[in-house]
Amino acid sequence: MDVELIRLTKRYGGTLAVDAIDLKVPSGAYCCLLGPSGCGKTTTLRMIGGHETVSGGDVVIGPKAVGDATPAQRGTAMMFQSYALFPHLTCRDNVAFSLRMRGMGKAERRAKAMAMLDLVQMAHLADRLPAQLSGGQQQRVALARALVTGPKVLLLDEPLSALDPFLRVRMRVELKRIQAELGLTFIHVTHSQEEAMALSDLVVVMNAGRIEQAADPRTVFERPATAFVARFIGGHNVITLPDATIAVRADRMRLGAEAGDGAVPARVVAVEYQGTSVHVGLEAEGLSPSGGGASPVTAILSDGAYSARPVALGDVIPLGWDASAAHRLQA
Ligand code: ADP
Ligand code: MG
Repeated sequence: MDVELIRLTKRYGGTLAVDAIDLKVPSGAYCCLLGPSGCGKTTTLRMIGGHETVSGGDVVIGPKAVGDATPAQRGTAMMFQSYALFPHLTCRDNVAFSLRMRGMGKAERRAKAMAMLDLVQMAHLADRLPAQLSGGQQQRVALARALVTGPKVLLLDEPLSALDPFLRVRMRVELKRIQAELGLTFIHVTHSQEEAMALSDLVVVMNAGRIEQAADPRTVFERPATAFVARFIGGHNVITLPDATIAVRADRMRLGAEAGDGAVPARVVAVEYQGTSVHVGLEAEGLSPSGGGASPVTAILSDGAYSARPVALGDVIPLGWDASAAHRLQA
């Protein structure tokens, strides 16, 4: 089902945690709420799921505003950051628990629980206790438990943050597969731009209780709306010119003979080898990246382009960029 937020607001005393946000998440979309710690992601998610009261505005799920409806009445389920499995119950009984609460018979709830464990590739460990599972396995069980009641919208709060980097990437692929297979709307909170880019149909970049930009990943990367988005997404230089602030993709900066007409002299202050690419940090008079002037501009060169024309710390070389890669930011 689609989810719409209308002027949704949350105040905690004097803190405005969520500031009158509007958002439409289409049915079946994978949506990530992306932003730094404290920007209001969890509060937004909890208001969607009915785990937090709203101070103003509405949450609309499917055809109707949900008001004070319980999570079950809304058709949402939440997967928490801590998996919160019952330690004394097996995987199967953990997944079946909420069905038991709903009065479903034993045979039926066991069958449903096994089907969900199968979906998350945990059926073979159905009889184990949570303490006998790895973190990644516990997380699959938590996912099965959130899905077993047949929600229309799954809410996930930093579901991958407790996993090591290798498992995180694997689970990311699994989440996307399961979401596509079930055709559900997923709303996933993360502070990782890489995770949001990899998963999302819709990336919602939040800052200080507000939405800075909501768009598909490519649009967010190609046309960041604000300096905040450009910096948070990464891979861009935010450059303040006399008449505008622009974002230029770091991989579209041009050095040396390729720098072109408007080039300015720049001093090489960092060279970082990254395998497939080399990141060159440069300081230039008159370019005031990030508004401060102190932090350097980054140029990302392919390893081939760099090794054809290497630079050294202290070199002063022409610096420019593809005009087509410069994108004007909202003030
Ligand atoms: P995020 O999930 O993006 O890190 P949160 O939604 O948890 O951010 O928090 C947003 C803001 O609301 C923060 O300033 C936080 O301190 C505040 N906040 C969150 N929960 C509470 C609460 N229960 N009481 C008071 N302030 C809260
Ligand atoms: Mg949070």
